[in-house]
Amino acid sequence: MKMYYDKDVDVKALANKTVAVIGYGSQGMGQSQNMSDSGLKVIVGLREGGASWQKAKDDGMNVKTIEDAAKEADVIHILLPDEIQADVYEKSIAPYVKPGNTISFSHGYNIHFKYIKVPEDVNITMIAPKGPGSMVRRTYLEGFGIPGLVAIEQDATGDALDVALAMGKACGLSKAGILETTFREETETDLFGEQAILCGGVTELINAGFTTLVEAGYQPEIAYFETCHELKLIVDLIYEKGFAGMWNDVSNTAEFGGLSRRDRIINDDAKKEMKKILSEIQKGKFTKEWALESTAKMPMLNRMRELESEEKIEKVGSKLRKACGLEKKAKEKEEKVVVV
Ligand code: NDP
Ligand code: MG
Ligand code: MG
Repeated sequence: MKMYYDKDVDVKALANKTVAVIGYGSQGMGQSQNMSDSGLKVIVGLREGGASWQKAKDDGMNVKTIEDAAKEADVIHILLPDEIQADVYEKSIAPYVKPGNTISFSHGYNIHFKYIKVPEDVNITMIAPKGPGSMVRRTYLEGFGIPGLVAIEQDATGDALDVALAMGKACGLSKAGILETTFREETETDLFGEQAILCGGVTELINAGFTTLVEAGYQPEIAYFETCHELKLIVDLIYEKGFAGMWNDVSNTAEFGGLSRRDRIINDDAKKEMKKILSEIQKGKFTKEWALESTAKMPMLNRMRELESEEKIEKVGSKLRKACGLEKKAKEKEEKVVVV
């Protein structure tokens, strides 16, 4: 394991260099603001007429078209949705890429699956925060950072790693630590994590538990608190202290019940399916499916979004989060991040 901290990174690798951050969404906003506040010369590259254009200007960023930003930059950091990066790269970035430039990403998807091809005399780097953009900004303002990953796919200049690490330091990531990886490892594990555990697995687990309780006649509000709301408290404990720390904080009854029953929920069938999901990712089957879906303007994704919005847990949850003031609190937190 190779981990880099502030003391290991010198931002001089980016002295006199211009970083163009392409995109001003979740990651683009957080990362460009942090890098700019850290003293880097940052341009935000956007399409004219999009919602982000005015937003980035209002936030005081130096905004240019993607083409102009690419022309001026030494480092082009592409923070657009993964499924459109290849198109935008081809049309608006590739024509202006010069030898010795660095093309940088926060996810290895388009390089690893070969949707984007970069000339040999250009660096290909990744600096990826392990968390959403709002957290990248919030923790930076609090004087800390979230952990990150760094990877080098192509080192044309001999200092590609220094450039990527300098970007990570300017984003605040080396305060928590930047772990070295490869494009392949980051891409495949990131996709697996979000599908099987973080986004896919956990929502299905919560909803299955919620539905079990509601169908058995318990109040939906109680079911929501038990299967969804409390999850955050448990995850926070695991995040800070590991499994043992969590077991130590819950009752012995919870510990015995949990340890003796959990493999009936995540059983051999579930583990077999996890392996299958990973293999679909490794073989590029998932990526092909997603490329077709996004080219067709996302009919399945839109349908799944619609179906989920009709789920009881979403209705009950929304009502409860309002009643407990949780949505208001989350909004205030977000506004605070944007205002500062
Ligand atoms: P977003 O979906 O938030 O990006 C939105 C931005 O992309 C907006 O500025 C939008 O501009 C622009 N955009 C969208 N469509 C187009 C288009 N057709 N042409 C030009 N610009 C367009 O992306 P994320 O921040 O979620 O993701 C960026 C990268 O970071 C991805 O590689 C992702 O995998 C990675 N990542 C994301 C994380 C996250 O938490 N979100 C975590 C770690 C990595 P406009 O307003 O004009 O539409
Ligand atoms: Mg991801
Ligand atoms: Mg309980």
